Amino acid sequence: MAEENKSSLDALSALCKRRGFIYHSSEIYGGMPGFWDYGPLGCELKQNVKQAWWQFTVRGREDVAGLDATIIMHPKIWKASGHLDTFADPMTMCKDCKKLMRSDQVKDIYADQKKKPQPKIAGSDFFCPYCGGELTEPKPFNLMFKTVVGPIDDPSNVAYLRPETAQAIFAQFQNVLATSRQSVPFGIAQMGKSFRNEVTPRNYTFRSREFEQMELEFFIRPDEAVEILHGHVVTLADNPDLDGPVQDDWGWEVWHKYWVEQRKKFLNAVGLPTERFVEYWQKPDELAHYARACVDIEYDFPFGRQELEGIAARSDFDLSQHQKWSGESQMVFDDPLKQSAKKLDEAARKAFIEKVQADWTSRGKDAAAAEKFCLDLFDGKYVPHVIEPSAGVDRLMLALLCEAYEEEKLVDDKGKEDVRTVLHFSPKVAPIKVAIFPLIKKDEAQDKLAREIFTKLQKKVNVMWDVSGAIGRRYRRQDEAGTPWCITVDAQSVEDGTFTVRERDSMKQTRMTYGEFLDMLYTALEF
Ligand code: ATP
Repeated sequence: MAEENKSSLDALSALCKRRGFIYHSSEIYGGMPGFWDYGPLGCELKQNVKQAWWQFTVRGREDVAGLDATIIMHPKIWKASGHLDTFADPMTMCKDCKKLMRSDQVKDIYADQKKKPQPKIAGSDFFCPYCGGELTEPKPFNLMFKTVVGPIDDPSNVAYLRPETAQAIFAQFQNVLATSRQSVPFGIAQMGKSFRNEVTPRNYTFRSREFEQMELEFFIRPDEAVEILHGHVVTLADNPDLDGPVQDDWGWEVWHKYWVEQRKKFLNAVGLPTERFVEYWQKPDELAHYARACVDIEYDFPFGRQELEGIAARSDFDLSQHQKWSGESQMVFDDPLKQSAKKLDEAARKAFIEKVQADWTSRGKDAAAAEKFCLDLFDGKYVPHVIEPSAGVDRLMLALLCEAYEEEKLVDDKGKEDVRTVLHFSPKVAPIKVAIFPLIKKDEAQDKLAREIFTKLQKKVNVMWDVSGAIGRRYRRQDEAGTPWCITVDAQSVEDGTFTVRERDSMKQTRMTYGEFLDMLYTALEF
C-alpha cells in the first residue's frame, strides 16, 4: 500500500471518528478487531444506503418481493448450502509470536509492515510477516460463529450465526412463492446482518466480523424451459436491449448480464461513477463448481482494488440442495410451460430430450437425469435457476466515504490559502440533507422563521439546526458531514419569505422560495 493512500485512509478514519460516522466497537474496553459501530452520522448514512437499495431493488420493481428472516436458522441449512463443510479459509500461526493469519494474506500483511522482518530460518519464503518466525502448515478454519440454542450446552443444540443472508431466501422460497403472487422469473430480496469469523479482519471496515449484506436471489427458468416456451433462447450474442423492459425469452446469460448492469446503475445513482469501478469476470477455473458465471464489481479503495460486490449465476444448485436435504420439493409449476410443451408431438419431444442429453453429458452430467429433467419440463415442472447480486452495506459505505472525501485547497478573495474538508455525498445517501441557520441568532424574527422552516422540513428529511458560530464556520461543519444544502434565513427572508441556499460542492448561494427548494430537493432524492 502506497504511503499517500495509507494517509488518506488514516485521514478519512480520523474524520469518521471526529464527526461520528464510525467508532471502534466497545472502545472503552480497548475495542474488538473486526467489529465497528456507526455513530449519529454513520447510522443515517447506513439507513440511506439500505433504503436506496430497497427502493431500487424491491419497491421500484414489480418482480421482486422482500423477506426478513432470522439470523439463527436450522443448522441443516448450512449443511445443505455447503457452509459447514467448505466455508473455510486456510489459516496459519507463527510458532514464535503466536499470531494467527490467513495464509493467503501473509504476503499482503508483509507488504503493509513499515519495518520488514527477515526470515528467522534462512531461505524460507513462507515466514511470519510480523516477526520473521516459522509458520505452521495452513489448516482450514470454518468462518461460521457457533452458538448454543436453549439452556443445555450440548453438541445437539449447536447453531450458527448466518454467514450470509442468501440461504434464508432459498429456505423460504416456497412460502414466498405461495404468498406473494409472483411467478418465475421473479426475485426475493433481503438485507441484514451476517457474521464471519474472519481470521484477519483488516482495512478499516472492509473486512469485518459482523457486517450487513443486501442480497437478491432472482429466480429464472432453466434455458431448456425458455426453449420450449419460445422456440429459442436469447443469448448475449443476440445483443439484447438491457436498458428496456425484461423479456420472457432471455436465457440465463442475458439475465446475469442484465443484473450486472442494474447493479452498476445503482452504484452510479448512489454516487460511484462508472469509471471508478471495474467488472472482474471470474475465469472458468476460479468459478465454484455449480456457478456458470460470476462477476465481481471491484473498487479502487485506498488500500488497493478490491471486491465491492458480486453477481453470480448459480444454476439450480441452492434450491436443489435444499430439496435434497429437507426432502421438500423446491420445484415450481409453470402453466405456460406446460401448455407450450403440450404442443410438441412425440418426435419433437424425443428430439428435445436427445438434444438436452447431448448437452448435459458434454458437461459431465448424467443422461438419465437429463431425461427425467425433460419429462418434468413437459409437465411444467422444474427447480428454478438463480442469479445472485450480493452486496455488503459496510463495504459500499466505505467506498462511498472514500469517494466522497476531499481535502480541497481554496484561495479566498484576498489570496489567502485554506483547506476545506468536504464529503461530496450524493444527496440520496447524505446523512443530513439540509442544515438551517438563522443568520443572526439574536434576531427574533429570523430565528422564528428559520425554526418554522426547520420544523416543516423535519417532517420530510433529516435536517440539522445550527446557530453557533460565524456562518462560514457553520458551512464548514456541514461540508465535513457531507450536507448538500444549507439554508440561511436573513433580514430579506423576514420581508419576503425567500432564503439563501448554499450548495456544498460549488459553494454557490442562490435565493429561493420554500416551494422552489422543495422541488429541487425531491428531484435530487428521486430514484
Ligand atoms: P471476500 O472475497 O472479500 O471475502 P466474498 O467473495 O467471500 O468476499 P461474498 O460471500 O460473495 O463475499 O459476499 C458478498 C458481499 O458481502 C461481498 O461482496 C462484500 O460486499 C460483503 N462481505 C463479505 N464478507 C464481508 C466482510 N467480512 N466484511 C464486510 N463485508 C463483507
